[in-house]
Amino acid sequence: MKCRIAIHGGAGTILKQDMTPDLERLYTQGLQQALDKGYTILENGGTSTDAVIAAVVELENNILFNAGRGSVFTRKGLHEMDAAVMNGADLAAGAVCGVHNVRNPIELAATVMRNSDHVILSGEGADDFALSQHIQTAPGEYFFSQFRYDQWQAMRNSDEYALDHSTQNIIDKKFGTVGAVACDVNGNIAAATSTGGMTNKNFGRIGDSPLIGCGTYANNKTCAISCTGHGELFIKAVAAYDVSCLMEYAGMNLYDAMNKVVNEKLVAINGEGGMIGVDAQGNFAMLFNSEGMYRGVKTSDGFTQAAIYK
Ligand code: ASP
Repeated sequence: MKCRIAIHGGAGTILKQDMTPDLERLYTQGLQQALDKGYTILENGGTSTDAVIAAVVELENNILFNAGRGSVFTRKGLHEMDAAVMNGADLAAGAVCGVHNVRNPIELAATVMRNSDHVILSGEGADDFALSQHIQTAPGEYFFSQFRYDQWQAMRNSDEYALDHSTQNIIDKKFGTVGAVACDVNGNIAAATSTGGMTNKNFGRIGDSPLIGCGTYANNKTCAISCTGHGELFIKAVAAYDVSCLMEYAGMNLYDAMNKVVNEKLVAINGEGGMIGVDAQGNFAMLFNSEGMYRGVKTSDGFTQAAIYK
């Protein structure tokens, strides 16, 4: 059986002319490292769920991406992180919203899936659950990065909030949200997504990433999907599950279903962003309606690629 993993590190207005060669190399290296982490698990016969978690942990630990360590600042100058994971074989799912000091929110989401009767835990309760499960935490300084701080300072006295990529200079154009989808040697598929959300977000705002069916979904019958982009629109579009529905009920293949959602349905409501997907036959696709999407794929056919622009 073929195995493959695809990852993303966010989508948006990423233009080559705004990027320095050094930064481009760092992003590409970060993507490659995450692909290798996940792929090694698949290659050794591990599960797609373990592979997507490992790849996302690697991206959460990389300060360049808006998830885990590199999370953006909220209106109150905090970090509120969201993450979700779903296993396509049995529809097991776990997610956390608005957690503060969890080093790797995707690991907490996986623990919700494996060690609780629930699917989504939020805020203080999720932080308490993390403590009870001995999940690694980190002090506020761990999540500090100067460029995200500056990004927040530019907005903090306004009611505006922004996708990680929607402001004008390249540092601020850094995209956020990370995700992975994989198909393992047994044909089981899984998806994981993790994010710091939007800069200057307020009132406990939650995006699509931790919502099962919106930013994250996996079902062996159809597909595993991880999304990135303007969360509110992805929620309204129920984007990830819509791809699954188009495959299950309209008989579309993975690519056509993703293309319909990303390039027609989301475009129609100004839902900027993209998604990555795999199916249980090992097909994969990485589609976006924005200028760019940090993305990568590695397959057992010997194909590996990390890309940024259209
Ligand atoms: N979808 C994420 C959110 O709205 C943001 C992103 O993908 O950059 O929270």
